[in-house]
Amino acid sequence: MGNGASADESPNTIRVQATPTPRDNRTQNPRDSRTQNGGPPERSRRKGGGFQEVEIQETPRQGKSQNSVRQGQQGQSSEGRSQRQGQAGGSTQRQGQAPGGSTPRQSNQRGSSQNAASEESGREDIIFETFYHKSGKEFQCMYLDGMRFYLDDWGSKEWQPFPKRWYNEGLLITNSVVKDQENENRRRQQQQQQSQQSSGAGASGGRQQQPGYQQQSSSGQDDREGVLNHPKRGRIPTYIFQRKHNIHCFYDHTQGQWMRLPIGWELHHEMVGKLVDQVEEALPTWGDRQDILALLRQCNYDPDECMSTYLHLEGDPWLKAPKTHKEAKAAEEKDETIEQLRQQLKEAEESLKQEKIARVEAEKVVKDQEEKITELEVENKQHEAQLMSLQQNRPKTAMQRPKTPQVVTQVVKEETVNPDDIVLLNNTAKELRKAQVHLKMEVQRYFDVLRGQITKAKDGVKNIKSTSSGSMEEMEEIRALYRKEAMQRKLLYNQLQELRGNIRVFCRARRDDRVSCCLKFPTDSDIVAMDNNGQKKMFSFDKVYEPNSTQEQIFGDTKAIISSCVDGYNVCLMAYGQTGSGKTFTMMGPENNPGINIRAMKELFDVCKERVDTVSYTLKVSLIEIYNETIQDLLTSDAKSLDLRTAGNKVSIPNLKEVVIKNLDDIKKTMAQGDKNRTVASTKMNSTSSRSHLLLMLSVEGQDKVTGAITKGTLTLCDLAGSERISKTEAEGQRLVEAAAINKSLSALGQVFTALRTSQLHIPYRNSKLTQILQPSLGGDAKACLFVNVSPDVNNFSETVSTLNFGSNAKQIALGQAKQNIRKGP
Ligand code: ADP
Ligand code: MG
Repeated sequence: MGNGASADESPNTIRVQATPTPRDNRTQNPRDSRTQNGGPPERSRRKGGGFQEVEIQETPRQGKSQNSVRQGQQGQSSEGRSQRQGQAGGSTQRQGQAPGGSTPRQSNQRGSSQNAASEESGREDIIFETFYHKSGKEFQCMYLDGMRFYLDDWGSKEWQPFPKRWYNEGLLITNSVVKDQENENRRRQQQQQQSQQSSGAGASGGRQQQPGYQQQSSSGQDDREGVLNHPKRGRIPTYIFQRKHNIHCFYDHTQGQWMRLPIGWELHHEMVGKLVDQVEEALPTWGDRQDILALLRQCNYDPDECMSTYLHLEGDPWLKAPKTHKEAKAAEEKDETIEQLRQQLKEAEESLKQEKIARVEAEKVVKDQEEKITELEVENKQHEAQLMSLQQNRPKTAMQRPKTPQVVTQVVKEETVNPDDIVLLNNTAKELRKAQVHLKMEVQRYFDVLRGQITKAKDGVKNIKSTSSGSMEEMEEIRALYRKEAMQRKLLYNQLQELRGNIRVFCRARRDDRVSCCLKFPTDSDIVAMDNNGQKKMFSFDKVYEPNSTQEQIFGDTKAIISSCVDGYNVCLMAYGQTGSGKTFTMMGPENNPGINIRAMKELFDVCKERVDTVSYTLKVSLIEIYNETIQDLLTSDAKSLDLRTAGNKVSIPNLKEVVIKNLDDIKKTMAQGDKNRTVASTKMNSTSSRSHLLLMLSVEGQDKVTGAITKGTLTLCDLAGSERISKTEAEGQRLVEAAAINKSLSALGQVFTALRTSQLHIPYRNSKLTQILQPSLGGDAKACLFVNVSPDVNNFSETVSTLNFGSNAKQIALGQAKQNIRKGP
């Protein structure tokens, strides 16, 4: 019992080493090979040398300590098992070990209903578990033939014997892909009992004392539950309820969305202020308006409830915990910031007002200017007319010109000329010349003035033209905005429809002409699976596709969700099912009858093209494979291994190759390249495609040509690894590691679904690379669609039921409201 003996120290040492083996090309359905092999395996029969037993001295019995650790998890373990076995209501004895610590095999042989299924298929399964060590580390474990091993890490892939002392240092949880409600309830009950009984330490290895650790292992627990150690009241159980509450919001124009009203602002709200006044008046000792409002908020703005809560707890030191210096300072700073913000807001409003006034004035000036221009134009016209008439009236020939007054030389009879007359004549001539020069100057002046006025008029006309074209542009912009709004409204309507649904779960039964069909399809949303004994199980999904359904039909139903990624939503489509059930056919499909991938990309191109007037789009594609918890980039020729970085709900894969695609040819080339690299990678890693997850990720980035806003949506198509259980007959080196990796990631996916379904606060995305990558597409702001693919073959009955269970588990998830990823343009 937790004697501290490590694996190496233990006398019962077993050395098991998993080394990569040359693949025994197992392309056929593993089920077939299992039925051929049948019966409990003999180690000597194992080929390939992958699983070498160097030394076996004694099979370690499960000690008491182990039992004690596992007892707490009885419900979980058995439920996992029962789920994976696809049998309902079976008394699952494996983990509920009878006193004396019988081995799982023994209890299996007691003939529970699952065992019937196992025996029916002539094999036993290996049980995978996750061990959560109190240090925060987790390990994949395997329980086989009464022995437990753990995988030290995904790099070396060595199976080590499970150290005995670990039984007291952590928690073992059977990886279960599915949990049904019944088992969930059972588990809850057990947990409650446990938490009542436990005083912190004991059976669960000190779990209660390690909140961080507890969270780590919360794969199936409800993290909304908790306790508070009150100095007077003692231990108070707490629970974070999810309730509909009134939330007071304000509309933020800069963000274009409703935001929660800060408490400081809310205090200035007339109606809320009155409510606070009301409480304050009734309870003058309370004093802190912010506190009152905080409690009012919690009481859904019901002053009576607020008062009664306060009165009930009045005098409680915790209720009015004095503010620490830090808190007071922070509050002061907050107030200051609020004041500053308010000031800024005031200033902004002031400047907006000023701007408005300036604008009105400017408009007035423009109007005046326009009037002046019109006047000028009229004047100009008049001048032109004057000029014309002047020009017309101007004598053209010298003859017509007004004759200079003729000096009539009188024939003087006398021969003598009067000198006075000559002087007079001279003077007249001079005056006449002067008058002519004057007239010339006058005409010149007139011309200058006219020229100036014509230029002015021209400028005026030009101005008029440019202002009218400016208003035309404005009109065009408004029209574009209107078009955009109309389109968005339509889209929003569609999206609203989609949002009403939960995560979409579709079930597709594969066509297989070689076998008789054990499936029935009473309606287009129900499926019934029947085994050889006539046992029936019915499941309901959003839609069920019969074997004869076509790729077009499948795509038709996912089209709407896929095209919403153009609007900036994260969309994820996954195919889950055993190997050979048609996952790849559905997601990728053969060249002459492509699956969702090519069709989706085509559709995205079309949608982008439709909007080319308003938005410019860039489509990028990347292709990765997750094999044994390593991520490989299939668009690099050497299938480079990649790291994963997470920050909040943002996940990034540095150095991931993204290929820009512009047309169908690009898509085909990229997919062909991916296929080729996958072959190279699988040869290098010695794997087959059914044992890795393939993720095709398409990012669609659009920039609005009018507003400059950038939307970014991603479409992830995920062809998951085969979900079949591994039988003991297949317990060979690399296969075991692969199976552990698949089990880990699919279990993690199931746990994420369960946590989402039960609205857990902590969603265990971090439990596997797969769920980490899918996090942005599975969280509250995404749209997801799960295909559960099943085979019609009756021999696959239990696997089919297990798959359908997985789908049912996911179906009850209500993802939060989908959110567009929009940010302001640069
Ligand atoms: P998985 O990826 O789940 O292992 P596959 O998609 O590779 O399964 O399907 C196995 C075989 O079954 C393939 O040869 C595929 O062409 C065929 N197949 C799967 N689904 C269908 C279907 N709906 N109609 C016709 N053939 C199918
Ligand atoms: Mg496949």
